[in-house]
Amino acid sequence: MTTNNSLKLLFLSTSVGQLGSGLGGGVELTVLNIAKELHRRGHKITVVAPVGSVLESIPVIEIAGDLQGTAQTQDYNDSIVMPADAVLANMWEYARQVQDEWDVIVNFAYDWLPFYLTPFFRTPIAHFISMGSLVRSLDRVAEQTAAQFPGTIGVYTASQAETFAFAAECQLLGSGIDLSLYEFCSQPQSKLAWLGRIAPEKGLEDAVAAAKITGLPLKIMGKMQDEDYWQKICADYPDAPVEYLGFLTTTQMQEQVRQCRALLMTPRWVEAFGNVAIEALACGVPVIAYARGGPAEIVRDGHTGFLVEPDSVNGLVGAIARLDQIDRSACRRQAEVEYSLEALGDRFQHWFNSIAASKVRQ
Ligand code: UDP
Repeated sequence: MTTNNSLKLLFLSTSVGQLGSGLGGGVELTVLNIAKELHRRGHKITVVAPVGSVLESIPVIEIAGDLQGTAQTQDYNDSIVMPADAVLANMWEYARQVQDEWDVIVNFAYDWLPFYLTPFFRTPIAHFISMGSLVRSLDRVAEQTAAQFPGTIGVYTASQAETFAFAAECQLLGSGIDLSLYEFCSQPQSKLAWLGRIAPEKGLEDAVAAAKITGLPLKIMGKMQDEDYWQKICADYPDAPVEYLGFLTTTQMQEQVRQCRALLMTPRWVEAFGNVAIEALACGVPVIAYARGGPAEIVRDGHTGFLVEPDSVNGLVGAIARLDQIDRSACRRQAEVEYSLEALGDRFQHWFNSIAASKVRQ
């Protein structure tokens, strides 16, 4: 990539948590990976994020203010809620002041405000939406943005896009990871992994039920987002062979995951992507997932894992019994071919270039 084509990109991170906290879920890793790869290619990247955010090797502008609540905990028709001193509003006020220094501003927040503000900015705004449809306020404002600023809405997958009325307007951008951080393991131990935020939409109880039936130990890793939900699972399955290891760094997490026979993915919702699926594949770990949403687009059924009937614990158990059919090197290969940082960088660079070009035309 030549530097005379280099772009100046201001990323505005999720406002539900600090980068590195895990509260933002997979979008935290996505922000890091896009920023890292485009920085490597010579583009100028700065990330604006709540105070306390940490992002290796990329400049972060830390903004004070109160965090947004998460959209997953809202009802579809709920009104828009913002704290009085909202970090979301403060981040966008910062972006407004510096906008002329940048070619494209990139919004990673699943919030109404950045979409609403788009027509008021001189600098074009790209919106990366990291979840499927959850709240009417966002559906509505994003649909208006898609109509007024064609090509500026990006999503992970087609299944995610299809949850929105403006599916046809979405750019499908997928995800990708730094494969060098994940080590291949050909000889796993007799145990299973579950990764993600501990929250009801992730359906952890089904993985715990499958662990209990099969007797295979389940290692659980991820941000404790809903302590009551976790306590209920512990009470409902007191003798299941499960262990919660906490929220681990990528390095620590892959050390655990790669030793497992499979990753179980049990989302109740339409998972937009599921970064954890490609992280497991990169370690050579097959993915057993419910056949809906992002994981259904990632897992090659019978080749790099199994897609089972959604919400069926028996389906999980049946797939666990067939794990010997999977060649773990095929899992690593799929991650290398489809989910490298290079592939991710190509797609996002192309998208940002097309949006930057729209500025020139204005
Ligand atoms: N994760 C982590 N440490 C852990 C468990 C999970 O850093 O111990 C990260 C993982 O790398 C992934 C994110 O948590 O990026 C979960 O993202 P995913 O896309 O699977 O789901 P989301 O939370 O966005 O719904």
